[in-house]
Amino acid sequence: MSDHNKCLRFRERAKRNPRVQHVLAAIEGLGCQTGTYEDLVACVSKDSQPGLALSGGFSPHVDQEGPYAPKILMVEEHNADQATFDRTLIHELVHAYDQCRANVDWRDPRHLACAEVRASNLSGECEFIQEINRGKFGIVNHNQACVRRRAALSVTLGHGTTQDLAARVVDSVYDRCYHDKTPFDQDK
Ligand SMILES: [Zn+2]
Repeated sequence: MSDHNKCLRFRERAKRNPRVQHVLAAIEGLGCQTGTYEDLVACVSKDSQPGLALSGGFSPHVDQEGPYAPKILMVEEHNADQATFDRTLIHELVHAYDQCRANVDWRDPRHLACAEVRASNLSGECEFIQEINRGKFGIVNHNQACVRRRAALSVTLGHGTTQDLAARVVDSVYDRCYHDKTPFDQDK
């Protein structure tokens, strides 16, 4: 099966992930319209998106002043299994949620850093690494270090800043943004 068809199959199955359903419902609950799931979430090859070094991408809308119209790009070659796909999708959906809730200015490194801290934390991408490393690291500290590292990486790649500056911006917003678990705080 081609990477594209695999990605389409992951996309279909991800619809049944309760965390995916939860963020989508939360976005709608705030009154933002995402259009159909298939319009919102696209499967693209890495060659068609040379600027996209990570497993997923988020585009807030076509032009900065336009209506709410987020697009999520899932990079076919970088989401090799369902669990990876689901984590990447939840990461990007958290960006879509923040865009709806707070009208994020993605050009502002502090806004971007906060969004990346939240998405790295809430997607579970660090819980997974935490699982396989359990026993090696303090669990809480490892999760926090992972969120910090991945958020700084996303800021570096998404904003063209140096790693040093990205790490400092992430540090400056970290505490507030790490503890903001909306929309996953209500259902516990
Ligand atoms: Zn991100």
